[in-house]
Amino acid sequence: MKTLAPGSIIGIIGGGQLGRMLALAAAPLGYRVHIFAPEPDPCAGDVSWRVTQAEYDDTAALAAFAAEVDVITFEFENVPVAPLAALGDTPVFPPTKALEVGQDRVTEKTFAAKFGARTAPWAPVADRAALDAAIAKIGTPAILKSARFGYDGKGQALVNTPEDADAAWEAINGQPAILEAKVAFKAEFSLIGVRGQNGALMFYDPPQNVHKNGVLATSTVPADPIIKEQLVAARAFARRMSEALDYVGAFAIEFFATADAPLFNEMAPRVHNSGHWTIEGAETSQFENHIRAICGLPLGSTALVARGVQMTNLIGDDVHRWGNVLMERNAHLHLYGKAEARDGRKMGHITRVER
Ligand code: AMP
Repeated sequence: MKTLAPGSIIGIIGGGQLGRMLALAAAPLGYRVHIFAPEPDPCAGDVSWRVTQAEYDDTAALAAFAAEVDVITFEFENVPVAPLAALGDTPVFPPTKALEVGQDRVTEKTFAAKFGARTAPWAPVADRAALDAAIAKIGTPAILKSARFGYDGKGQALVNTPEDADAAWEAINGQPAILEAKVAFKAEFSLIGVRGQNGALMFYDPPQNVHKNGVLATSTVPADPIIKEQLVAARAFARRMSEALDYVGAFAIEFFATADAPLFNEMAPRVHNSGHWTIEGAETSQFENHIRAICGLPLGSTALVARGVQMTNLIGDDVHRWGNVLMERNAHLHLYGKAEARDGRKMGHITRVER
């Protein structure tokens, strides 16, 4: 394990709020951050040392970026993997294999099953005819999800009855997908973990997550007791998966807590929105622990430092409605500095800590 000295430069691919919070966590450890992103004014750039503006498949720009940084990581996983070969010998954490697995729902669910996770019943849908076959196999209600580039509930359509097939196929623009049974879950939760270069694996308390319109609304710790009962199985799976990938850094795995078992939904090979509460609510935040992991430093304690914590996302125009939050004791406001409050865009979050 090579420890990066203070003053070293961390390259982050992606320029959103996750990169911004990673850069803010890197600074106290003495590191500088160089962002690589296609947007002209990425919000991570406000708090970073340098920004390279280039497309994710610009191999010349990727090679020049790699030559200027000491380690490379991601805050956005939907980058094309093949051009990343241009990064050469600069260490890349997590391994790009983890991106590949997480980018495609078919690969992801197959991989999860291989390591012992249960999932909702699902079937691949390569074309319109396969959708009818999948409906016959899985039944309804079900959810049609595009296989790639889905996030925050985008690229998804509900199939309540077989008659919805045409509309659902059209709604996801007729692209390769999976059909997944709609789960009557008791609760949703995520496992936020971090794995060091020496294989040390640590988990945070699992947040209970509530989504609205497919987008995370709140994450609350401690979670409902039913989630705690499912932690052993969920963590055992996360250990097997992270070891198989030789994973380094923070990750999140989303689960549905059903009556008898946790069902794997999806994984993110990066810091995650449902872990933002760790900034004020845990001894070491997911962002700092990710930086520690990729820089070869010892991981910090993941222990909860409060009786309870709740993170509330500020989505779209909510950003103008944080009102008196700064007057509230133990409430923490995070604004991401994004110019436009487009519908559904994550603009910031509030963390309330119960001491
Ligand atoms: P995803 O993009 O797959 O994480 O989906 C976003 C959210 O939609 C999830 O967190 C759930 O709230 C809901 N959802 C997704 N898949 C299912 C399912 N199979 N059954 C019930 N709800 C689901």
